[in-house]
Amino acid sequence: MSLEFIPTRVFYEPSALDYPLGKTLVEKFCQMGISASPTSSHNRITGIPGNTATTQYREAKRTLVIGVRRSGTFQSCKPSAHYQLPLVTSCPGMCEYCYLATTLGKKPYVRIYVNLEEILGIASKLILERLPEITQFEGAATSDPVPVERYSGALKQAIEFFGRETNGRFRFVTKFTEVDGLLEAKHEGHTRFRFSLNCSEVVKKYEHGTPSPEERIIASGKVLKAGYPLGFIIAPIFRFEGWQDAYRRLLERTSEELVKRAPSGWSSEQLTLEFISHRFTSRAKTNILGVFPNSSLPMEEAERKFKYGQFGYGKYIYQPEELLEMKEFFLKEAKGYFPLAQVEYFI
Ligand code: SF4
Repeated sequence: MSLEFIPTRVFYEPSALDYPLGKTLVEKFCQMGISASPTSSHNRITGIPGNTATTQYREAKRTLVIGVRRSGTFQSCKPSAHYQLPLVTSCPGMCEYCYLATTLGKKPYVRIYVNLEEILGIASKLILERLPEITQFEGAATSDPVPVERYSGALKQAIEFFGRETNGRFRFVTKFTEVDGLLEAKHEGHTRFRFSLNCSEVVKKYEHGTPSPEERIIASGKVLKAGYPLGFIIAPIFRFEGWQDAYRRLLERTSEELVKRAPSGWSSEQLTLEFISHRFTSRAKTNILGVFPNSSLPMEEAERKFKYGQFGYGKYIYQPEELLEMKEFFLKEAKGYFPLAQVEYFI
């Protein structure tokens, strides 16, 4: 199955046509025979069909909105970076546990912004304000930016912008594998390219419309070969019959590919690893079951420990002894397969 993102319908803000990218994109979609309709705001789209939450969600994921980002600043992105870099919103993937299902509402349509120079101009200003400190920007706080890169070229532009910035750094994470267009970008080591990985048992069941772990591992090898700082987020980690073997195989295969592709002089010291165990909030559970009524995601409150969150809502995490076992397992395996990697956290 091809995972190329080809939208079913496109909306555009008329002001997007004032930018060369906006004009080119609208013309391109019209030539492709895809309906492109004007909309007064990229924040409020009417005209996405569907009578049920499931169909509305599916149709939204096939809808592309071309807009102009007007806010003069960026949201903060603690603790992983100082700011979000808003290049894209949402993603055509349909992972059952996607955090965007909770934050973007019932119709998480995909948005790209055509005023990239203005967006990067804001990044310049924010970097200047923090001099002589380094300022970090996260490009995937509200999206997976890779599937729409074929249309916007925004990631490449951002990567090269940060390549020229002595005091700015960029990071993003993806589950997608169309990375060839980014391999030649002049990144100067200022962008950390991270892949979100999970074992195939989990990906097959819950990460609909995304590349397999094997394809992601191969893409990560290309990125490593291109000299980017590389990272992996293993998330969400589940316990199931045989989970240790499944995750061990994933780490083993990843390590094998990296060894094969690593440029000379590379050591796992330059690799970052992040581990996130599965958790859910009551709100997320309701949203997930609205869109995926037959979901088999393990979301039995009675089996989990309730942990109060800092924003007034709590989440259901694995029991402390289960979490400890998972943490010990991943730290030990990480040490074995990537002896010098920086484990940023296990939560
Ligand atoms: Fe969400 Fe990432 Fe899956 Fe896209 S790939 S649906 S952003 S979890």
